[in-house]
Amino acid sequence: MSDVGALRAEVARASRRLAAEGLLIGTAGNVSVVDPDTGNLVVTATGVVLAECADEHVSVVDPRGRLVAGDLEPTSEIGLHLSVVAAGGVGAVVHTHAPAATAVGCVRDSLPVIHYQQLLLGGEIPVAPYATFGTPELAAAVSRTLIGRSAALMANHGAVTTGGSLDKAVENALLLEWCCRLLIDSSVLGEPRFLDEAAQTAVVEAAIARNYGTTRPAQEEN
Ligand SMILES: [Zn+2]
Repeated sequence: MSDVGALRAEVARASRRLAAEGLLIGTAGNVSVVDPDTGNLVVTATGVVLAECADEHVSVVDPRGRLVAGDLEPTSEIGLHLSVVAAGGVGAVVHTHAPAATAVGCVRDSLPVIHYQQLLLGGEIPVAPYATFGTPELAAAVSRTLIGRSAALMANHGAVTTGGSLDKAVENALLLEWCCRLLIDSSVLGEPRFLDEAAQTAVVEAAIARNYGTTRPAQEEN
């Protein structure tokens, strides 16, 4: 059996880190991880100041959203988290109102591939249509947008990233914010260029050939 206490601590730690990085602001945003043994969701409670998130600010709900552990009601976006997880292949979900990602979702319909590292998120990131927070409409729109990628922007709202693990979902949230910041910063200088299909394919091929993103021992010269 997995250690639910350890999962609650992991969610609290991730929330504090994302707040320290400026992605979670005040009580805005929420973080969850799936308990692999039960399928329950270990998720931040509603109204928690995420920079100060402690283990007791993390609740556990079953796949239907019913509280099974913890003293606090889960986030008002619990339906969004459950919907994204139910779509399959997701171990953790991060939802933020991060400044750059939110700004992009206020103006654009998508974030085209502005840097090759964005391909780690699945390529172009569409902006899910606006719907009121906490509604099934928003949960459905974001879940649809996440098909085939691990990040979605939300019109006039924020962003969602996913990962097989919570560390990966957090890493993806930081990468998405960096890409959005890059779009904003480069737009100040002029019209940004984006990577076309051929450039994207070449990156994927090069990454596969070089096992990009992993360390490896230096080759001895002979
Ligand atoms: Zn939100």
